[in-house]
Amino acid sequence: MSKFIRVWEALDVNDISPHLLIVGEITGDCSNCRALGIAYSEVKTCPSCKTTFKYIASRTKEIGKLKAKRPDLICIDLDDYKKITGSMRARDLFGSGN
Ligand SMILES: [Zn+2]
Repeated sequence: MSKFIRVWEALDVNDISPHLLIVGEITGDCSNCRALGIAYSEVKTCPSCKTTFKYIASRTKEIGKLKAKRPDLICIDLDDYKKITGSMRARDLFGSGN
């Protein structure tokens, strides 16, 4: 019986950001160039900046749908990603150095 259980894994955020496809209700966005309206169920690369997608995240939490359409991509949690990139950005802005 297969169910979704979240697995925690250490990933390099610098490798995720340029290769992440963020999926909304109908279409996806490229996190590398911010291109919108990407047909996420078919594309291997961004139609705009040509980056190869390796990771996928969902704004809607419909992970089952995502995994069924894109079993080739690593599905990451968007909140985890945002939290990490947000704190990295804050550190860059304020230059606290740790
Ligand atoms: Zn792009």
